[in-house]
Amino acid sequence: MSQDPKVHSFAAPVPSEPRPSREEAELAIRTLLRWAGDDPTREGLRDTPARVARAYEDWFSGYTVDPEEFMRRTFEEVEGYDDMIVLKDIRFESHCEHHLAAIIGRVHVGYLPTNKVVGISKLARVVEAFARRLQVQEKMNAQIANTIQKVLEPKGVAVVIEAVHQCMTTRGVHKTGVSMVTSSMLGEFRKNPLTRREFLSVIGNPASSVDG
Ligand SMILES: [Zn+2]
Repeated sequence: MSQDPKVHSFAAPVPSEPRPSREEAELAIRTLLRWAGDDPTREGLRDTPARVARAYEDWFSGYTVDPEEFMRRTFEEVEGYDDMIVLKDIRFESHCEHHLAAIIGRVHVGYLPTNKVVGISKLARVVEAFARRLQVQEKMNAQIANTIQKVLEPKGVAVVIEAVHQCMTTRGVHKTGVSMVTSSMLGEFRKNPLTRREFLSVIGNPASSVDG
């Protein structure tokens, strides 16, 4: 099977057009303010294009990070621990690539290590690197699972994401209170229903505590 580098690399996509200047970006935001029906020269909006450009640098800082490379630098080797590790409730904020609206949610990760593990703060950085790009929840879910699989080479990986999409809750059909749940199950979590059930029961019960 041919390997498409776009599918198998978790580095940021390479833009087909050069990056615009800061001025061009601010001008584009000014245009959007006019499109919304407001006056970009009025007092309250005068600094908005510059503020939005700075906010974009923060919200989309994930394009400058290669999560796979980061994880390779920070995993730890452990001997003889092969029980399930579950890291739950990793908070994230992202933006949907269809509307630029916020996606706010939590990621739960489970894996069966062979001998490599990663701590929750490091994993949170990996999640953040993917979240701080324009995203589709299913894609982000697969990216996190595939990165863990590729770097830690565990016997299996499970990633579940629960998130609220503001493009669903604040516009269009206004589906308030609806969260979207996606999951990727690889290896043992896909093959073995008992392993999958164990993981799902751990993440479904916030009162349970898990070592790792
Ligand atoms: Zn959207």
